[in-house]
Amino acid sequence: MNENSSMMRSLRRELRGREQDIVRLLGRFVRCESPSQDKAALDRFGALVAGQWRRRGAKVRILREKKRGNHVRAELWLGAGKPRGQILILGHLDTVYPLGTLAAMPFCVKAGRAYGPGTFDMKAGLALALAAVDGLRAAGLRPGKRLVFLWNSDEEIGSSTSRLAIEREAQRSDAVLVLEPSAGADGRLKTARKGLGWAEVIIAGRAAHAGLDPRAGVNAVHELALQIVRLKHMNNARRGISLQATVIEGGTVSNVVPAHARAEVDIRYTHLADAPKLDRKIRSLRPILPGARVKVCGGINRPPLERTPGVIALFHRARSLMREIGLPLGEAWVGGGSDGNFTSALGVPTLDGLGAIGAGAHSLVEHVVIRSLPDRAALLAGLLASL
Ligand SMILES: [Zn+2]
Repeated sequence: MNENSSMMRSLRRELRGREQDIVRLLGRFVRCESPSQDKAALDRFGALVAGQWRRRGAKVRILREKKRGNHVRAELWLGAGKPRGQILILGHLDTVYPLGTLAAMPFCVKAGRAYGPGTFDMKAGLALALAAVDGLRAAGLRPGKRLVFLWNSDEEIGSSTSRLAIEREAQRSDAVLVLEPSAGADGRLKTARKGLGWAEVIIAGRAAHAGLDPRAGVNAVHELALQIVRLKHMNNARRGISLQATVIEGGTVSNVVPAHARAEVDIRYTHLADAPKLDRKIRSLRPILPGARVKVCGGINRPPLERTPGVIALFHRARSLMREIGLPLGEAWVGGGSDGNFTSALGVPTLDGLGAIGAGAHSLVEHVVIRSLPDRAALLAGLLASL
């Protein structure tokens, strides 16, 4: 039996014995609601999570924010002597559910699943990280690298206040592990994610009576329609570029030439190299109808997480660890972004989707599969001990 095999077996044994502890901790986390927009609630939840890390001997720092929720950084050195590098583990404290959701959608365990707002995305991930550390200690394993856990409060709304801290920490790290939900019922890891952006196209025209004097007006809705056609032509399935007008508004009443119209545009792309040109094209939309004005806000936000050799090597490591305990592990390419997109764009190998197995993220039936929790914690612990 090789070294990794006995490590993974003892990790799994220790963590299977802690399954109920993990579920209990998840329940505590889910019952402490933490919507992205609510600073007081987020800070409460951040303090709860920070307390768990302090109890495990981590050096905890609260990264204070004025308007948004605070972020939590926990540092842990479990080895002997000096660390030979650093691993960054990323997760988010915030959920998409407004305060009070819990009343209609309480935390509950049913048929081997744990339901509740943010269970899957991603409070189970936060609980798994704590379980992984418990597992490492119980199995007597000593990771060679310093472990830095960074839990931000604004991932679901673009990470604008945490991005810098994430990038700074990633640059000091040899690898980044992201505890976002896994993909599919078999818990695949995410080895590629599309880059994304959001833009708003705002049209100003001129109002006029649609019957008496239509030519005195400039129809903002017509202008918007023409601009949307332009945006549609920027789609390129072969390059993995997708632009979707998702929300449109315009006009006032049916017999007035509309003076205002606007559209929101969802932007997804696959290759980092396409970003500058795509951003430029979107921002340089010019009016088509005489007298119309066009303004574009927003643009590219998250770069893609590309499947680089560094990412593939991390995935192969994870797969071989799972193989030691007889479990298959696949990989997935997904359209949604995470904070792993930022770290990967800096060239730091990033492995995403290491969170729980489950389904229904951002919905009424969000849940995780309880039986999978110890195995996922063992996988994380195995990576932390062997990278
Ligand atoms: Zn998430």
